[in-house]
This record gives sequence, structure tokens and C-alpha cells, in this order.
Amino acid sequence: MVTTYLNADLHCHSVVSDGTLTPEALAARAKANGVELWALTDHDEIGGQQRAAAAASALGLPYLSGVEISVSFAGKTVHIVGLGFDAEDAQLQRGLRATRGGRTQRAMEMSEQLARVGIADAYQGALEFVGNPELISRTHFARFLVERGSCRDTNEVFRKYLTEGKPGYVEHRWAALKDAVTWITQAQGVAVIAHPARYGFSANAEYALFSEFKAHGGRGVEVVTGSHSVAEALRYADTAREFGLAASRGSDFHSPEESRTDLGTLPLLSDALTPVWELVHERIQRPTH
Ligand code: AMP
Ligand code: MN
Ligand code: MN
Ligand code: MN
Repeated sequence: MVTTYLNADLHCHSVVSDGTLTPEALAARAKANGVELWALTDHDEIGGQQRAAAAASALGLPYLSGVEISVSFAGKTVHIVGLGFDAEDAQLQRGLRATRGGRTQRAMEMSEQLARVGIADAYQGALEFVGNPELISRTHFARFLVERGSCRDTNEVFRKYLTEGKPGYVEHRWAALKDAVTWITQAQGVAVIAHPARYGFSANAEYALFSEFKAHGGRGVEVVTGSHSVAEALRYADTAREFGLAASRGSDFHSPEESRTDLGTLPLLSDALTPVWELVHERIQRPTH
């Protein structure tokens, strides 16, 4: 069955990146919340895919492989979600390994900068929150700063310390847009622009992002996401139609304590859109029993 009226949740994070739940716990939570098609999309990492797919299968939950790749574009970090790819693909695995590569160095630089504003040993502190040593992220620093009482919650940490111009922010060069889209597509997956409203691009830069993404073989955009307001979802539904892109839906759930949007609780996609799962329906891993 392929339809717009599907409680698909194709964006969330486990302890394999910066989520706080295991792939198994996420699968159970998705199932309990009525999700009908699920994907785990850890940042720059597919090490949780087998566990997620196995847990989904045991629960009778259809599954698409997933990842969220960090990309540098027009001076900002853009996220490209990949869905339905072959997780054994060597080029994709190499590309993701290279993308993860600079994270430890960046984390040490963040730690040095934070030390200058009186926050000592942040690297060691953040490591306490890391589930995967290859994937230390700003989120882990945020959790450490909340724990030591520097801020009330992780949003406040990002606002005061971890975003552009703030003391703990370190500029970083991620994957190229063309490379990320190519790795996903050549592995039989579909590439999707994640939460476009989050980037704060000018109209021109956003047009360039969508046009270049399409030219490289990208085919989808997140319309209904935990990162979009209702107005933004409507706006990007129009953008999807203008660019001839399919639409995706995902909570971007990270943690029961931190995430505003739980798995499977967003509004459905409008039936005026082509759901992205139509493009990869043959890649859906369906439970066999
Ligand atoms: P990184 O890949 O290390 O740069 O970390 C990016 C992650 O930080 C995102 O995937 C979000 O989970 C989290 N994040 C980014 N901005 C914010 C924010 N303003 N508030 C809370 N979390 C954020
Ligand atoms: Mn994240
Ligand atoms: Mn993202
Ligand atoms: Mn995400």
C-alpha cells in the first residue's frame, strides 16, 4: 500500500548519533505511537541500521534505511536525508566515514574555546554523553552544559554557546552537496533536503540549494517536520511542487526529555503532494510474518 495517508516517520536519531534512545527503543516507541513506516536517520552514520531494521521487523513495522548527512552549502550547514539506500554500499560508507572524520578535532577546538569563557573540560564532559565515539556532536556538549548548570536546557546552550558567533562555535567543513546526493542515489536511495526552513537562507541562496540539489539527482524535501511551523509546512509544500520534488515527513525526534515532537505525531502530508516513499516503495523492508 502506497499512499499519502500514511503515518510515516522518516527522521529521528538514536544513541548511534545524538539521540538518547537505542534503535530498539525507538522502534518500540514508533510502533506504540502508530507509525506505519519508519526510518532511523542518524547523523553521518549508518551503524544503527541493522539494529533498527531488525527491531522494526520483529514489531511488524515496515522500515526504510536512513541517514542524515551534514553538508556545507553557501556558508551554512545543510542536512540531506537519505532513505531506502543499500547500507552495504561501499561508496556511501566511505563518504560517511570521511564526513564523520573531522568531528573529534572540532570537538577539541570547541572545548578550548569554551575553556576561555570559564567552562573547563567540556570535551571530557561531552564524551560522557556520547554513545558512538566517532560521532561527538554539539548536542553532547549541550547536554554537558545543562548537567553542569551553565544553562537550563539544551536550546539555551545552543543560543548562548554553540551557534555562529557564540564562544563555543567552531566553523566546520562538511561534505559537498553533490557528493552527499551522489552517495545516496548511487546506493539506490533517495536524497531529501531536511527541514529547509531551519537554514535561514536568502531567497537566492535557497533557490540555488533547491536547483543544485535537483541537478545532482536529489528528489525530495521534508515538508512536514518537527522543525517546521504549520505555515512553513505549507510554504515548503508549494516549494516541493514548484521544483517537482516529492515530500517527506519526519519528527526529527532525539529524546523524550528534549524533543517537542514525538515519533508519529505530526499532521499527515497533504494529498496534493507526492510522498517520498512512493519513489522508494520497492526498498521498504517489510516484516515477513
Ligand atoms: P552537529 O552535527 O554536531 O553540528 O550538531 C547538530 C545537532 O545539534 C542538530 O542535529 C540538532 O540535534 C542539534 N541542534 C542544532 N541546533 C539546535 C538548537 N538551536 N537547539 C537544540 N538543538 C540544536
Ligand atoms: Mn541532531
Ligand atoms: Mn538536521
Ligand atoms: Mn535530524
